Amino acid sequence: MGHRRCVGSLNGGHGQRLRLVIVGAGAAGLAAANALASAPLRTIVLEARGRIGGRAHSVQSQNLAVDLGCGWLHSALDNPFSRIAEQLGFEIDNSPPHWTRQAGAQNFSRADQAAFGAALGALEVRISKAATKGRDVPVSTLFDPACPFNPLLDAFSGFYNGAAFDQISTMDYNAYRDTEVNWRLTRGYGTLITAFGADAPVKLNTPVSAIDHSGRALRIETPNGTLSTQVVIVTLPTDVLAAGTLAFNPGLPAALQAAADLPLGLANKVFLGLDAPEQFGPDSHLFGDPSRAETGSYALRPMGRAMIEGYFGGTSARELERAGSGAATAFAIEQLCALLGSRFRDRLHPLAETRWAADPWSRGSYSHAAPGATGARAILATPVEQRIIFAGEACSPHAFSTAHGAAESGRSAAAHALAQLSDT
Ligand SMILES: Cc1cc2nc3c(=O)[nH]c(=O)nc-3n(C[C@H](O)[C@H](O)[C@H](O)COP(=O)(O)OP(=O)(O)OC[C@H]3O[C@@H](n4cnc5c(N)ncnc54)[C@H](O)[C@@H]3O)c2cc1C
Repeated sequence: MGHRRCVGSLNGGHGQRLRLVIVGAGAAGLAAANALASAPLRTIVLEARGRIGGRAHSVQSQNLAVDLGCGWLHSALDNPFSRIAEQLGFEIDNSPPHWTRQAGAQNFSRADQAAFGAALGALEVRISKAATKGRDVPVSTLFDPACPFNPLLDAFSGFYNGAAFDQISTMDYNAYRDTEVNWRLTRGYGTLITAFGADAPVKLNTPVSAIDHSGRALRIETPNGTLSTQVVIVTLPTDVLAAGTLAFNPGLPAALQAAADLPLGLANKVFLGLDAPEQFGPDSHLFGDPSRAETGSYALRPMGRAMIEGYFGGTSARELERAGSGAATAFAIEQLCALLGSRFRDRLHPLAETRWAADPWSRGSYSHAAPGATGARAILATPVEQRIIFAGEACSPHAFSTAHGAAESGRSAAAHALAQLSDT
């Protein structure tokens, strides 16, 4: 895939009527555009940011690619991005993830590590039983009150779901399919998704402010003009949709309620350069404080690099982001020094930190269904009037919250759009 196809003015110059507009150039929008690349349709992708990829975003640090958003090819053997990576010549790192290898046992004994694994396994069995009976309740109602690992279970939920278990629906949690095969890309998942979308007809810096569906044609409003089209695929993150940044006329209360019922959790990352990294094995791991829900999870030497990647989820991610730029980095350094001694600070060099809640085009990290709202994913994924089709990770029935789930939902929206346009 070569250079991005040039998209000139929004409306003119192509001599063919615009039939499909895709709003958002993340994994979902780019997958939809690629699926339609050979269809005889004039299509355009409108993207608010000055780059493609959305929540897939790699940047260079110490001459290496680091992923500010998605980093793991989850369910890697079945993940279409694994195949795309091979086709595009991207190197895949398939070494086991850091969370399977605790570094040392100074604050988390081997016995406690095993007991925590058992507590999580037992909770997942209770979730599965409740979901099978149709009990759509907060996962936290299934906690064993006597279990000493409840704070760490909430920390885990923060990393996994972006929110503590009291905000997570049992049925939604149970619907997620995970083969537990997780790979990475040395050049970055964001770099791969950008390469995947390189040929898509994207117009950057073009936020859509309104979609008017009161007439025969859809009217798509942007600061650069208004477009007229037959079908639109809308791939905005649910919190952006629920905030009403994009207005629908007439309003779409059912779809917007579904988006509000699928809030984005928050996960943020901190990257620290590490001197004398040999002290740790590659791809090992430390919890800052396994006795608290508000703890960082630290990947030591990810892919063997001289780096530490801190991960914050749920409440701690929110509080640290609210505390301002640099707060998460400072907290990570404090937690690491508490574990490894105050002189450890001298070996650490702040490289980057993310603030996904403050990003106006994301407003968070990945979606979960609120308790009682597991049906919201199907509601959001149901096309409105057969011509306003929502897509994106939140619309995926079994791979929500992931880049491959987003792409799968984009492809399915494209198939629906094509069927609709073939009929007219
Ligand atoms: C910290 C973090 C870690 C993650 N880790 C993983 C992981 O390891 N593995 C994994 O698979 N997934 C992971 N994810 C989730 C994954 O990144 C997302 O699920 C996926 O990228 C979402 O793709 P999408 O197309 O649905 O949405 P997005 O990528 O958010 O795309 C939506 C696009 O719409 C644009 N937009 C918004 N408003 C407008 C507007 N009004 N007009 C025009 N355009 C607009 C946005 O700029 C964006 O480009 C992670 C995410 C984060 C934040």
